[in-house]
Amino acid sequence: MNKIQMTTPLVEMDGDEMTRILWTMIKDELILPFVDLKTEYYDLGLPYREETKDQVTIDASNAAKKYGVSVKCATITPNAQRMTEYNLTQMWKSPNGTIRAILDGTVFRAPIMIDSIKPNVRTWEAPITIARHAYGDVYKNTEFRIPGKGKAELLFTGEDGTEMRQTIYDFECAGVLQGLYNKDNSISSFARSCFEYALSTKQDLWFSTKDTISKKYDHTFKDIFQEIYDAEYKEKFEAAGITYFYTLIDDAVARVIRSKGGFIWACKNYDGDVMSDMVSTAFGSLAMMTSVLVSPEGNYEYEAAHGTVTRHYYKYLAGEETSTNPMATIFAWSGALRKRGEKDNLPELMNYADQLEGACFDTLNQGIMTKDLSGLANCETTSVTSAGFIAAIRGNLEKRLA
Ligand code: NAP
Ligand code: MG
Repeated sequence: MNKIQMTTPLVEMDGDEMTRILWTMIKDELILPFVDLKTEYYDLGLPYREETKDQVTIDASNAAKKYGVSVKCATITPNAQRMTEYNLTQMWKSPNGTIRAILDGTVFRAPIMIDSIKPNVRTWEAPITIARHAYGDVYKNTEFRIPGKGKAELLFTGEDGTEMRQTIYDFECAGVLQGLYNKDNSISSFARSCFEYALSTKQDLWFSTKDTISKKYDHTFKDIFQEIYDAEYKEKFEAAGITYFYTLIDDAVARVIRSKGGFIWACKNYDGDVMSDMVSTAFGSLAMMTSVLVSPEGNYEYEAAHGTVTRHYYKYLAGEETSTNPMATIFAWSGALRKRGEKDNLPELMNYADQLEGACFDTLNQGIMTKDLSGLANCETTSVTSAGFIAAIRGNLEKRLA
């Protein structure tokens, strides 16, 4: 069989623990036999991040920006326990945080749905994608515990010395106080990433905030989205047959629950944090959540939403077979290869990505599943190991590509 050709390399970011093991299995069994894979490889595994003083993460992020499409394996974000386990000289920052800061992107999370696992919300027939603004607000807050009586004021001093000052509250007793901020350029990037992603996936875009109560802060988000939409995206959306619509978050929540799914829901930072946990739980399993970072310039970084599955890795190290679900990691690869195909106009590569995903669905529809899914499915299932699952997918993929 002739292997499918690529023209531009994909930026490949390897990672840690169980997902690093799956990474190699996926490449060896499902990609390399079929695709003449071109990648620029960066090892974001914790030992090499330590060895390069995290320079490898910065280099990988810059490459992701240069080439436009990347695929990333889950990585450890070090904590105190990892400092000892990996003998680290520093508690290196979260690679995802570094990549996000360099690409200035928005994270979109969408569940992979299968017939035998029904969402907890009966009406949901298609995936709901959550777009979370990952900058500012309560995640960058300044807060005080107020000890007792006194006046709290909000003060802004401009570069030229002019002051804006307003009383927040005259405290007659103890209480709490918090200051939040966001920036127009970050909100604009968030808006553009959302509009780009909606066009790229041909889905409607919803955006919600609490603008009726937060008349300046949240209202600015609403206004920036609307201005960018009207100036840059209205015609493109109409041509693609999709819509942009803004609504109050209370109304959005009610509509989402009654909806059939199949749209993107853009949320402010805190709303996105909470709502993505609700939506992903209602759809079934963390192992079936995909994640893609989209920059306002249209750079794409694909990954699984879950972590490195440490508990399974320790079992693997002890010589036990594991039944870790590789679906979200496979879909990170198929997503990245399809996007590379789109950008480089390679229909064969795009078709391969479709067939790879199709082969995954064939396998699950045959009832062949990893343990996390067999417990949830409403059909007869055979629980298999990760290797067994990937081998079954390969069989189905060979049939499809024959
Ligand atoms: P996790 O790796 O997502 O795993 C949490 C639990 O969810 C697992 O123990 C497992 O449950 C289940 N699970 C997740 N993915 C699964 C899969 N593919 N197949 C089967 N079960 C799956 O989260 P964590 O244990 O909190 O974090 C582990 C490490 O990952 C941490 O060092 C963290 O820093 C890192 N992390 C990285 C990213 C990223 O790179 N994007 C994201 C999150 C966390 P059972 O044990 O019950 O089977
Ligand atoms: Mg959360």
